[in-house]
Amino acid sequence: MQNQIELLTAQITKAEQQLHEQQQTNTELKQKLIAETDARLKAETAAQLEAQKRAEVEEELSVQKELTAQANAEAGVHEEANASMRTAIPFEIREIPASSPEPVKRQPCDCCGIEVPQTELTKIDSGHLFCHDCFAALRR
Ligand SMILES: [Zn+2]
Repeated sequence: MQNQIELLTAQITKAEQQLHEQQQTNTELKQKLIAETDARLKAETAAQLEAQKRAEVEEELSVQKELTAQANAEAGVHEEANASMRTAIPFEIREIPASSPEPVKRQPCDCCGIEVPQTELTKIDSGHLFCHDCFAALRR
């Protein structure tokens, strides 16, 4: 009887030790798991940070693209303005001689040979064109 009790006690002690060891192992496993989870979380956080950074960089890139597109669009507007100016120039050039009076043609006098405006020449009976001076001298 005494032996049985001792045996049982020994068995219980052994079982308790095993349980204790099990618990220790469990604790170790838990710690390991926590450490692994921690590491995974850190890795995930790092990945998230990287993704965020990438997103920021991509956003910046897209903003720059947009700015470039805007600049191009503005340049296009300028180009259009220049084009309309270019097409406007010949119109203006055509406008200038139309608004200015026709230049008076000059013609040499048949008597003295001096070039004078046609309006100042007088046609005499022979068909010759005389300047005012020569015509005046002729009539004298
Ligand atoms: Zn003359």
